Amino acid sequence: MKIALIGVGKIALDQHVPAIAGSDDWELAATCSRHGSVDGVEAFTDFDALLEARPDIRVVSLCMPPVPRFDYAAKALAAGRHVMLEKPPGASLAECHALEAMARASGASLFATWHSRCADKVPAAKAWLSDKTITRAHITWRESVRKWHPGQDWVFEPGGMGVFDPGINALSILTEILPAPVHLRAATLEYPSNRQTPIAARLTFTGNTSAEFDWREEERDIWDIEIVTPDGTLSLHEGGARMVLNGTEHTGDDAPLSGEYPRLYARMSELVQQGAIDMDLSPFVHVADAHMLGRRETVAAFDF
Ligand code: NAP
Repeated sequence: MKIALIGVGKIALDQHVPAIAGSDDWELAATCSRHGSVDGVEAFTDFDALLEARPDIRVVSLCMPPVPRFDYAAKALAAGRHVMLEKPPGASLAECHALEAMARASGASLFATWHSRCADKVPAAKAWLSDKTITRAHITWRESVRKWHPGQDWVFEPGGMGVFDPGINALSILTEILPAPVHLRAATLEYPSNRQTPIAARLTFTGNTSAEFDWREEERDIWDIEIVTPDGTLSLHEGGARMVLNGTEHTGDDAPLSGEYPRLYARMSELVQQGAIDMDLSPFVHVADAHMLGRRETVAAFDF
């Protein structure tokens, strides 16, 4: 299937282009970006022009930041295209519900991708936990915003999500692997004095579940989830790439294919073939709740 990448920036070039190139299902037929492009691929700067000129491209993958994404998704669905959304799937829950309604009305496929759910050990963790009682769960998600979002001021603008941009990756894993859902009870959000979104957050959920997100970790990425059960402790490390069960490294039983983004594109291919929608918003609900229930603390100003 021919696909167009829209919003050619960091994640499009780091992950989407290689995943599409490595797949037998997909051909990157065009891009649309105000500045970015991919060598050897037809490049548009205007989305209406792409939709008009290339009726043969039935699928678009939207890789721009969340705030501008809705207008592109709505246009694509109105033009009868199937749509793949980078995470988070929008800037608000209402936008996502509206897109889902549009996709249902037009019969298009719509995929709210959660790349961290496609990490190697997430299916094995889900399988092991499926018949367990959870005693306690804790997420530690610390990384450098300077490393992962160099100079991207949009992450600190309204709708940019702040530290929830990576934190939602942890929440996407949590909501996938827990055998029963939890919901947020309280949160503390740390806002740099010169910014509109939090740089760190602490979350308390039902079910003795908690999370700490911090974007000021300059030494190394820490993307860990520890889940304690009466039958032992499961730890996911490196964002779900490694799993340790009762102190023993888990080997084998990886999800098929290799890599998070190749798995996302394989799933999108299935959705288009089935005419299906995959729009699980459960990670996003926790982020919205954190903003509704969160206590605000002001911390030191942050500049890239
Ligand atoms: P980015 O590089 O800042 O943005 C991607 C591209 O979107 C930009 O190069 C820009 O291309 C276009 N864009 C920016 N603002 C726009 C606007 N107002 N209207 C239309 N297009 C606009 O961001 P990114 O890091 O790739 O992140 C994009 C999405 O991917 C985010 O939702 C993020 O959460 C997700 N993501 C990022 C990472 C990561 O490591 N950075 C990892 C996983 C997922 P033009 O200027 O050429 O139009």
